[in-house]
Amino acid sequence: MNELDSELVRGQLAALGYSFTPDADSADVVLYNTCSVREQAENKVLSRVGKIGIRKREGARVVLGLIGCLAEREGTPLLSRFPQIDLLCGPGELDRLPMLIDNALKTETVEAADRVALAGNRNRRTATLAAAADNLELLDLSRAFDPDGGGSGGPRHSAYVRITRGCNKFCTYCVVPFTRGAEVHRTPDAIVQECRRLADGGVVEITLLGQTVNHYLYTHGVALGVNGQEVPQVGPGGSAFTRSGPRGANGRRVTTFAGLLGRIHEEVPSLRRLRFVTCFPRDFGDDILRVMRDCPRICRYLHAPVQSGSDRILRLMNRGYTSGEYLEFIDRARDILPDISIAGDVIVGFPTETEHDFGQTADLLGRVRFKNNFIFKYSPRPGTTAWDRLPDDVPTDVKRRRNNDLLALQAGISATVHAEQVGRTVEVFVEGLSRRENSRAAGRVELGWERPRGRIQMSGRTAGDLITVFDLPPDGKPETLQGRIVPVRVLRAAPLVLFGCLEASTRSLAKQTVAVHRSGITQLEI
Ligand code: SF4
Repeated sequence: MNELDSELVRGQLAALGYSFTPDADSADVVLYNTCSVREQAENKVLSRVGKIGIRKREGARVVLGLIGCLAEREGTPLLSRFPQIDLLCGPGELDRLPMLIDNALKTETVEAADRVALAGNRNRRTATLAAAADNLELLDLSRAFDPDGGGSGGPRHSAYVRITRGCNKFCTYCVVPFTRGAEVHRTPDAIVQECRRLADGGVVEITLLGQTVNHYLYTHGVALGVNGQEVPQVGPGGSAFTRSGPRGANGRRVTTFAGLLGRIHEEVPSLRRLRFVTCFPRDFGDDILRVMRDCPRICRYLHAPVQSGSDRILRLMNRGYTSGEYLEFIDRARDILPDISIAGDVIVGFPTETEHDFGQTADLLGRVRFKNNFIFKYSPRPGTTAWDRLPDDVPTDVKRRRNNDLLALQAGISATVHAEQVGRTVEVFVEGLSRRENSRAAGRVELGWERPRGRIQMSGRTAGDLITVFDLPPDGKPETLQGRIVPVRVLRAAPLVLFGCLEASTRSLAKQTVAVHRSGITQLEI
């Protein structure tokens, strides 16, 4: 979500004549787009804020802005704690960012009210207001996608499209419902049009974004703007959904998430891949699974965070499902889509978590066979229900041990899941040089080498989101394959990577000359 916000901010500022630099020291304006989900991310950004404070005390003239969830959560006290910060802008107020920058650039003595755009309590209260007054939608609608990458690492062929903002779930450890506000659902027409524009501009793969995408539900004819056109609307609660899909909306026409996927698949035929994140394990209807089965360009991949295998801990987290219900969802998904690839998130060391609770989580991992899992040690976040009501009582060393145990367990499971691909030919969307190649390139710069030694390794992802690397033919050119979907024969597997070779039929492709994309290095310091 933050990546997309950064892209929208970049587009908004570029349209106003700002240019971007990869060198924060030479920038007139430095913006940090912050995440508040984990303490580590916050500490990192605050340390960078500290460094800019030193530069400013030494006389550097630079406008420093903090945008995103940390700005929203901490609010104006940040300005007294870090006087070097010139502006604060929450994720729900990004349309006001240019005005804040303008104020800060014009004068150094701006009133606090003109340096801050935060939703504050309005964030939840807007749930009852017509989302028609929601200027943030204009940011998405006016999006200027830059296929050259806008300085973020070369040409791009994949893009995010937001379908919902905010969240109504209130998991007890999470700040998102407070920092991003109530769940607001964009109109299906706006989403489909944005996908079409991106595909027409050369995008091969689109990822639909939302905190809980399967809860997307748009009721037509309810939220209308001044010109009578449909506008974003506040999403319904979980009670609007059943296992077989959303309930009827009093006879009104609705677009469900399954309907939205089907529309994009049908109305944007030039789009090669369609993905979505993140799924909420409750209320994932069979209608969505069936659309995934019937539409070949929708990736068979689910990111469905489980967080814990203990029902007691899931209750304390307010997740709204049991481990049994989660497993039932996974079984249903595999029943309808036998080749589905599943990733998850797990938190260890949540308040009161016992060895027994932890063992139940480990058992669940073995049962689901996730292709990978993002495993986090619990860290209490101010402003959440858990922060207020649940003492952080699992000692740090216990959290660390459980985290390491689960990482080791998941590595074994991931190795098995990846090994099953050996000998198969998989379709790989080529993203660019592999990580190894990028570090070798950095080394070459340091060592003064000009040419790569040996084969160049490329990296991409399968439809099931398995990272796959392969060597370019000796005289191949990376840019000829980047952004293409190519068949790769899998030769061996590691826990998180498949190693393969280009199928013979594709090798000649890698040697063709292609038009070189315009250069133009731009960088927003995020
Ligand atoms: S579903 Fe829960 S964890 Fe996810 S964003 Fe909403 S409140 Fe946070």
